[in-house]
Amino acid sequence: MTHLSNNRKLPSLALGLCLIPLPSSLSARGPLLKRYEFSLPRMGTIFRIELYSPDDATAAKAAEAAFARAEELEQIMSDYREDSELMRLVREGALVPFPVSDDLYDVLAKSLRISELSQGAFDVTVGPLVDLWRNVRKTGRLPDAAELAQAKALVDYKNVELDAVRRTVFLKRAGMKLDLGAIGKGYAADQMLALLHSHGIRQAMVVAGGEVALGAPPPGKTSWRVAIDTPDTVTGNPPCALLLHDAAVSTSGNSRQFVEVNGKRYSHIIDPSTGLGLEGAASTTVIAMNSATADALATALSVMPVADGIRLAESLSGVAAFWVRQAGNGFKRYASRGFPTSCRE
Ligand code: ADP
Ligand code: MG
Repeated sequence: MTHLSNNRKLPSLALGLCLIPLPSSLSARGPLLKRYEFSLPRMGTIFRIELYSPDDATAAKAAEAAFARAEELEQIMSDYREDSELMRLVREGALVPFPVSDDLYDVLAKSLRISELSQGAFDVTVGPLVDLWRNVRKTGRLPDAAELAQAKALVDYKNVELDAVRRTVFLKRAGMKLDLGAIGKGYAADQMLALLHSHGIRQAMVVAGGEVALGAPPPGKTSWRVAIDTPDTVTGNPPCALLLHDAAVSTSGNSRQFVEVNGKRYSHIIDPSTGLGLEGAASTTVIAMNSATADALATALSVMPVADGIRLAESLSGVAAFWVRQAGNGFKRYASRGFPTSCRE
């Protein structure tokens, strides 16, 4: 999970919008801007907005619209809600091409691009394997070879056909299941930041679980400071913080969600080639121009060997990545070219 340096204690995670005007600060040329924080549960985690606004009403209206947008997206992308658009697509899209909303089309198109770039390390059709993983959590037993083979046969992003003219999605094999768990929160963070922008608020940050989308820096500052949670700080390595603006950061790790079977931990990030959750403590951090890309790439680069990941990150403009991997009893850090040096040592 990503922490923010200048965070104050999260307000008790009340179900209502919490409005917290914080001490005002004067920007060099602009009006007096106050700092506000809002948080609400969305997509199974906490979403948080920090923004600067000249007045309470503008701040509250913008934040409310951004959270409403997140709710709208959750109703489209959730795989927990049977009536979400994604679940309807999964039920009906294998029979005939299924017309989808612009949002679902857009997030699937972005997903397929990352699947292609990562040669399937990120795969939006991973749903049947995620179901097996959730089953391990319930039963404490790993899937057998037959169950794995059956699920893996349904996982291949190349079997998702998008029609850009008709705006339809066709799933080529019955039983396929899509999962937007590794890109949806990032996509929502981008949309929320854009919505704040349309309300005239540029100096803002959206944190959707571990996904961070940054707008212009706070008044009087040149950047936001984002602290990254890495598993190697327990062995004495220094914590890592990034100074950024108008960018996105995502960290995927094995420490938060995993199942333990026979003393081994399997992360909720699945390697589609083995069908199983990743093993071992690790974290992968990606900086990108937008949060959907950072989110999906952080998952892709978690699955790929580090050397391949470095090549991929360095081939993409505006992308830099940072890995912490177990090495013997300790950890090793790796970074692609362009990743801030503050985290490297
Ligand atoms: P987090 O949600 O903790 O930020 P990720 O962004 O890495 O972590 O997303 C993990 C989720 O993505 C899993 O819970 C699952 O729903 C889905 N997922 C797991 N493995 C993959 C994969 N290889 N490709 C695409 N999605 C995945
Ligand atoms: Mg992700």
